[in-house]
Amino acid sequence: MDSQRIILHVDMDAFFASVEELCDPGLAGKPVMVCGNRETRTVVAAANYEARKYGVSSGMPLGIARAKCPRGVFIEDKWGPDLMELDDWKRLIDYLAERKLNNLGIGLYGCWCVQYDGTITEWINVPVPGHPELRREWTIRWYSPSDNEEKEITYLPPIFEQDFLGEIVAYGRERGVEVIPYVNSLGHNTLIPRLIPDFAAKTEDGEPEEFGYCLSNPAVAEFVKGWYGHIYETYLKPHGVHTFHIQLDEVGTGFCRCEQCRQTPNERMFQDWAMTLAKHLVSLGVQNVVIYNDQFTRHMSAWDEAFVERLREEGLIDHVIIDWWWYSNESINPQADPKMGYGVRSWVKPMTCYYNWSRWDPRQRNVEKMLQRAHTERAEGAASYSVFDPAWGLEFDALAEYAWNNRGAGPIHLFEEKWAAVRGDGDLLEARRLLDRAAAAPGFGPIWYYAYTYQRAGKPWPRRYPLEALEAVADLPEDLQMLRQAGERARLLLDGRSDDLSRGMIAEAARLQCHGHAFQAMAQAFEAARGDADDRPDPMSLAAEIDRARASVVEAMAVMETHKPHYLVPCCLRDMSVLHEFLGFLSEQLAEIADGSREWSGIEWFIENEIAQRGRAVQ
Ligand SMILES: [Zn+2]
Repeated sequence: MDSQRIILHVDMDAFFASVEELCDPGLAGKPVMVCGNRETRTVVAAANYEARKYGVSSGMPLGIARAKCPRGVFIEDKWGPDLMELDDWKRLIDYLAERKLNNLGIGLYGCWCVQYDGTITEWINVPVPGHPELRREWTIRWYSPSDNEEKEITYLPPIFEQDFLGEIVAYGRERGVEVIPYVNSLGHNTLIPRLIPDFAAKTEDGEPEEFGYCLSNPAVAEFVKGWYGHIYETYLKPHGVHTFHIQLDEVGTGFCRCEQCRQTPNERMFQDWAMTLAKHLVSLGVQNVVIYNDQFTRHMSAWDEAFVERLREEGLIDHVIIDWWWYSNESINPQADPKMGYGVRSWVKPMTCYYNWSRWDPRQRNVEKMLQRAHTERAEGAASYSVFDPAWGLEFDALAEYAWNNRGAGPIHLFEEKWAAVRGDGDLLEARRLLDRAAAAPGFGPIWYYAYTYQRAGKPWPRRYPLEALEAVADLPEDLQMLRQAGERARLLLDGRSDDLSRGMIAEAARLQCHGHAFQAMAQAFEAARGDADDRPDPMSLAAEIDRARASVVEAMAVMETHKPHYLVPCCLRDMSVLHEFLGFLSEQLAEIADGSREWSGIEWFIENEIAQRGRAVQ
């Protein structure tokens, strides 16, 4: 019966099973579950080969069959999640299970750009056998209002130090949540090539770079295959997990230029590398090898029919899944659209929360768009890009609803109303919409420190915060007032609520309110310094307003400290500490203008040293 599909009826609600045309050849390679009418027949009448890979079989009750197709979240390895303890991971699994989300991705290796004090931010979340040098500690500093002092911790991620990935996988299995690793190699990688220069991509002169791999060096493939194998055999296989995400996104300039590597076009190198890893994992027993579309379709043109044919010839076509990610609330990038997949199995990856350590960031429209595209393109799974922050409850619930009930969910604004009725009431919805409207204002985007922690082409480094931000928003006083008021009003609407969702939103509202206030006060001083010398306000009255804004930042930090999950507090407070510190510095400078020891033109609008040291790697 393997090759025969008998289609009796298709459940139209669940996107992963939605099939609108019978006998559609486009269904080949999709995990189609063919079920009776839900009212009259509640078992799977036929399940094709792909569906059976997820454990769907004929005769299985429909509810169970639907539960097998993946939908859930991917938690990236970065500030915040790196401090999650085993209990936090379990709590996340419970949260997902309550929403019938059945898939939790955990980033085990990822590296980022030059950030904070100019070092590269990078994580490794499981020990690498034979490579003790890859044990990697972090230091993070922040100001704690409750203790009125600066704090500093140096730590290994608990998941590394206590090596509990296997326990997370086992707990997920108990709760019906498959835990899968995301382990990058090419792409977002700096730690391994930097600490093992022999593996690193080389310049044309043969000098090792601090990122990328020399793929002509057979030791690189041997290492990565060995490490992947260790992860699969140690943490996944014993618990019946046979899915592995190899990422391969945002490779950027990480291609080796050594004599041997540069003889092969980057596209071909990339394709061969993906093929090598997929073949190896499948040979070990992995059923599903998931890869981002990103480098294939967005940064290169490496995804074509010839490559798909190679996957078929190598026996990989049934095992490879392309994971299409796109963050936008407005539209789907045509280069990141599962339409481009040539019929290969696919997931979609919207965003449910990401910038949580820096600012409010609504993504429910992105979830709606990506899940609708998944529905029309018959993607078999959805795993959002995320951090576990209950403040983004609307996004998590939208992901669950649009995955389970795409047709019934309706447009997102109607879903928001249903959501508010289930999770709270009209005040919750109004608070949410206040935050979302604020996030759409032109004055919102530029004011958050996080945007200035990265190097950018053409910008001085370290970036000059809040100077760059003030230059962007000094002429938007109405926006700053609106941000402040939106935060204040949302806090009033949610005041006294004690559920995690509301508490998280209260913290977000407080953060918005104090940033609006701080930038209003700073913009006044900034305008005074830039303006007519004869028409300047009294510097001490400006300083007094700066001090009030600083007090509101401290108050918001105290709310953040008590309302956010513990693992998010240091990274959230680090960014706010920068603002807190600068406001103190600005107040001092204004006092110096008042006593004649500083000129208006001599105000420094950023601090380079202390602030820049707030998060750094331990060497
Ligand atoms: Zn090379």
